[in-house]
Amino acid sequence: MLTLDHLTVTYGATAAVDDVSLELPAGQVLAVLGPSGCGKSTLLRAVAGLERPRAGRIRFGGQDVTTTATHRRGFALMFQDGQLFPHLSVAGNVGYSLRLRRTSRAERRDRVAELLGLVGLPDYAERMPGTLSGGERQRVALARALAVRPRLLLLDEPLSALDRDLRERLAADLHDILRAEGTTALLVTHDHDEAFTVADRIGVMREGRLVQEGTPAEVWRHPADADTARFLGYAAVVAGAAAVPLLSAAGLRAGAAGGLALRRSALRLSVGGPLTGKVHSVRTTAEQTRVVVDLPDSGRLDAVAGLDVAVRPGDVVRLGVDPSRVALLPVVSGAGTSEGPGPAWPQA
Ligand code: ADP
Ligand code: MG
Repeated sequence: MLTLDHLTVTYGATAAVDDVSLELPAGQVLAVLGPSGCGKSTLLRAVAGLERPRAGRIRFGGQDVTTTATHRRGFALMFQDGQLFPHLSVAGNVGYSLRLRRTSRAERRDRVAELLGLVGLPDYAERMPGTLSGGERQRVALARALAVRPRLLLLDEPLSALDRDLRERLAADLHDILRAEGTTALLVTHDHDEAFTVADRIGVMREGRLVQEGTPAEVWRHPADADTARFLGYAAVVAGAAAVPLLSAAGLRAGAAGGLALRRSALRLSVGGPLTGKVHSVRTTAEQTRVVVDLPDSGRLDAVAGLDVAVRPGDVVRLGVDPSRVALLPVVSGAGTSEGPGPAWPQA
């Protein structure tokens, strides 16, 4: 198991990683999710031994490895651009570290074949990196990183260079491959879909700090704060008094919540619904009608309606709130109602 204990890494006067503590049990995949510049790569590089922490400890399997040389940690790294050796074949790349370890030729051939099968490229052994697509290159890079069965696999935005379709498919494959190998992995990414698809646990990082840690379901259902909710892809956050009618319409107890985050489809036009609003604009997509509504107490919010519902700007409509598409946000001490009943701020 990997344990980070109050880890801080600084560049000059600024802390890129600021007092981060976390635990990653053996065999699990932890994704640290956060916006660009929040310190993800620095965290990963410190775990790899490529940055020296200013303070705190890194332990693995009960051993303190804080000052252990990179190559003695037994960890493997994989980056956004797999960085294959261009002059080696796919088999040469995947088997590279096995050759360094003087693994026998037969053993190496078997392991390379096993890994290429695992990453879905069984017939690619003789291909050269220059002839591969971006997705294929990342699969080869993953096979290469897994070849020596690292104690810990460190992945820095492994799918970010790929286009969306490929990224989604490869994220699902990455999940299955890491499970099949029983790999303990720490992945950092700015892409919440990638994090939620691949990981057993999610950490949310902002400005060098770990602001939340939990299972994907916990993080999704209970974001630590408004910024986290927006970062996770909730379309709007409504706080204070403006949240009360929405909470009540969702059948949720307002008492403990400082506000709520809404998915784009949380509000739905429904005859006899508990809320009344005025239609601001209407847009039709292939699957549903997207409506922007003004609610007297909660401001301007997104809503959806069935394709059979005909509404126009200016119409007064009734709406309901789907409680499975909202998340309650904790009360922020001192800032609870300061935002007042003003408008919700829809995500750009
Ligand atoms: P992320 O991977 O989340 O995008 P990084 O860990 O790369 O973030 O960077 C975190 C912060 O540390 C940023 O403000 C970045 O500018 C700064 N930083 C990263 N590497 C260096 C470096 N080698 N020297 C100085 N500042 C750095
Ligand atoms: Mg980075």
